[in-house]
Amino acid sequence: MIILVINTGSSSIKYELFDMKDRKILARGLAERIGEESGILTYEIVPAGGKPTKKREKGLIADHQEGLKRIVDLLVDPEHGAVADKSEIAAVGHRVVHGGEAFKATTIIDGNVIAAIKKNIPLAPLHNPANLTGIEVAGSVFPDATQVAVFDTAFHQTIPGHAFLYAIPYEMYERYKVRRYGFHGTSHAYIAETAAEYLGRPTGELNLITIHLGNGASMAAIGNGNCIDTTMGMTPLAGLVMGTRSGDVDPSIPFFLADHLKMSFRDIDDLLNKKSGLKGICGANDMREVIERKEAGDKRAEIAIDIYTYRIKKFIGAYFAALGSLDALIFTAGIGENSPYIRELSCRGLDKLGIEIDPERNNKAGGGIREINSAEMEVKVMVIPTNEELKIAQETKKVIEKGRGIT
Ligand code: AMP
Repeated sequence: MIILVINTGSSSIKYELFDMKDRKILARGLAERIGEESGILTYEIVPAGGKPTKKREKGLIADHQEGLKRIVDLLVDPEHGAVADKSEIAAVGHRVVHGGEAFKATTIIDGNVIAAIKKNIPLAPLHNPANLTGIEVAGSVFPDATQVAVFDTAFHQTIPGHAFLYAIPYEMYERYKVRRYGFHGTSHAYIAETAAEYLGRPTGELNLITIHLGNGASMAAIGNGNCIDTTMGMTPLAGLVMGTRSGDVDPSIPFFLADHLKMSFRDIDDLLNKKSGLKGICGANDMREVIERKEAGDKRAEIAIDIYTYRIKKFIGAYFAALGSLDALIFTAGIGENSPYIRELSCRGLDKLGIEIDPERNNKAGGGIREINSAEMEVKVMVIPTNEELKIAQETKKVIEKGRGIT
């Protein structure tokens, strides 16, 4: 089964084409700056065992419809294409950011599903409209393919009330669905399943803490295969310190900023989402740069790393308590996969919990799944590269095979 995975943003379409026979990527790329003269369309075909062919086209991509059509032209190109005809693509798997409480699992898209995604727009005002555009456009470009929605929030729908409710008037939840939802669910689910496969144990027997450290960052506590808590909240602003997002702050800070600095809601939103986190503390949001600055003696960069790793450590302790026991702690995404230093600082001093990193294993170069804990420690500490696109393709295939409809 050949599946196209697309992640549609307000001015971009990221895509990967998979052959699910062997879970192989056939092609991938990105249409970006849609609607601008400076549009860019990239395409990379990955032939079995061969050298990838890369293409880059510059110039106006008028809208998402044109973007997807041009992606399809590249996919079926007689010389460099990945498939002979678009009819070979059986399904399109869409990343949808917010499924609210309506979607606890991946689902085949129909009119009711589209209406429910629309209903969740207030919860994800930037992302869900773009995801809906992707669904609409893919429906017209691939009229015969099954359209499937894979939600960032679905994996977290098993979180119990005591962890998803905020202690504010209950009507806010009942009437307006103000609650913790959590995000990066596709990544956390993929990591949990991959860890279970690697450890040779059923997911349902494992207690895991998954730590996704990319530009956005979140952690999940997974008890017997079910997510029981996560750091992001009603929005992706909560929890860990991120590249430009603050993570948890005292909820009264926005009032202080409004009252005393006369900042508007929009400015405060901007401050917390785009000017805070690592960037707010030390001026750089790319962790490589932050580490380099720290090594060069920059005090602010040192403070940024201290706050960043202390927050992770605090949540490890909290989630250990929530789970009661722990089989594995797993790092993933850009920083989690590539920075031994951040992994080491985040776990330093946790040996009483059975968590200790072995410096040699941690620093060893090379990618792939690996164990980095000291051999004698009870808790496995692992690095597992995330692959959200593959997980979306797997989910899409699964739901089609089951012939499952709306949740
Ligand atoms: P992602 O959003 O998963 O692509 O992750 C992006 C983040 O990963 C950025 O902050 C990068 O600086 C960070 N990153 C990538 N490679 C490294 C590395 N070798 N060391 C530290 N951070 C890295």
